[in-house]
Amino acid sequence: MGSLRHECGVFGVVGDADAARITYLGLHALQHRGQEGAGIVARQGGVLRELKGLGLVHEVFDEPAIRSLPGDAAIGHVRYSTAGGNTLANVQPFLVQWREGQLAVCHNGTLTNAGLLRDELEAKGAIFGRSSDTEVILHLVAASDQKTLINRLVDALGRVEGAWCVLALAGDKLVAARDPWGFRPLVLGRRGDAWIVASESCAIEFVQGTVVREVEPGEMLILDEDGVTALRPFPRKPRRACIFEHVYFARPDTTLFGREVYPSRVRMGQVLAREYPARADVVIGVPDSGTPAALGYAEESGIPYGIGLLRSHYVGRTFIEPTQRIRDFGVRLKLQPNKSVVSGKRVVVVDDSIVRGTTSQKIVRMLRQAGAVEVHLRISSPPMTGPCHYGIDTPDREDLLAHRFDLPRIRAFLDADSVAYLSIEQLREAVHEEGSRTCDACFTGNYPIQPAQRGGDGQLTLF
Ligand code: AMP
Repeated sequence: MGSLRHECGVFGVVGDADAARITYLGLHALQHRGQEGAGIVARQGGVLRELKGLGLVHEVFDEPAIRSLPGDAAIGHVRYSTAGGNTLANVQPFLVQWREGQLAVCHNGTLTNAGLLRDELEAKGAIFGRSSDTEVILHLVAASDQKTLINRLVDALGRVEGAWCVLALAGDKLVAARDPWGFRPLVLGRRGDAWIVASESCAIEFVQGTVVREVEPGEMLILDEDGVTALRPFPRKPRRACIFEHVYFARPDTTLFGREVYPSRVRMGQVLAREYPARADVVIGVPDSGTPAALGYAEESGIPYGIGLLRSHYVGRTFIEPTQRIRDFGVRLKLQPNKSVVSGKRVVVVDDSIVRGTTSQKIVRMLRQAGAVEVHLRISSPPMTGPCHYGIDTPDREDLLAHRFDLPRIRAFLDADSVAYLSIEQLREAVHEEGSRTCDACFTGNYPIQPAQRGGDGQLTLF
């Protein structure tokens, strides 16, 4: 369940006569990574055309829209605004016309020094049209004194810090690059003669392509009709793959950083059952993100699994609110308790994470109203105590439940009979990852990069 929303997803293809349609399908498979806007830029005979809009992929594109994007190469993006507001101007890819021709860029992640670079560029006269950090990359490319587009991109991406998976389309090339820490996923795939790059393997498989390999951290791939050229233009850094992608973001059928997501989530539930058992009659999951861990908990504990919460898949972007107040209406709109499973029962409810705590609090209340006699909450990640600076949308530290309260107070706040989280060591064990390879700053406070501080107040001195 998501009270907050996701970050972004990118998809690109070269060498397919129907590139925009394949990109549309790929973006649909990445829809879980961003629901606020979607865009595609396609190339035909050296000309780039774009179509973008606010909303879900299938709301933005219809058959005529896809037909208006002919060509054999395309890049696309689904967006949730981790940086910049939710306006059409901020929907990616960004397509610009500059002195060297057309260039389209899209990006997944957050640039930790975007503000600083923007101040610098503005001081030299650059005019920004959007509030998104991705625009900084375009300006850096244009301002670079390198001669070729590839070298300009290397120059620009060498200056940005933080998390970035970038796709760029210009001339006869599609460029895919991943930051040296490897925070966010990016994979290379093949479909017939075409090459694909996508945030997650599930998107490559959805278009009936095959996954070739991960784009390595710090790698830049150049895809054109000659095939794929791999460069290593950026200084190496320790690998820091986001552990929260395993917990929540990635689709369960994805292979993430070389690990399958679904079995990891089942193992998270198994570890929870072993370490934090509860005397209960039924195990239920919070759909969809808590379901695999709930199955793991049930399997390991021997307590039967039940569908105790039903999720509505038909909630659109606007919904007519009831005129009479209905308690917890927002959560009920998405989740309904299933009385026949929970009434009169001691219930273990498994979710992937607690952020502010509002969802869990309402779920516990709903389950009790539906007749649950005990509610034991199990969370398949550690207490989230810090915000993410690398592309995941989390609130300020002060709003995070586990920053505000210790475990006994969290239990009291949620009104649960018991609450238990995985420890960071247990989570690493479940995803088969060593601590040294992952970014788990939101759980441990170990931030690999500090966000750059901006100087000045940005105000123009008039005289
Ligand atoms: P909260 O009500 O703020 O505690 O949110 C927790 C719920 O949001 C859980 O059910 C999670 O599955 C989900 N969630 C966690 N992180 C995110 C995120 N960054 N974006 C959207 N949903 C999230």
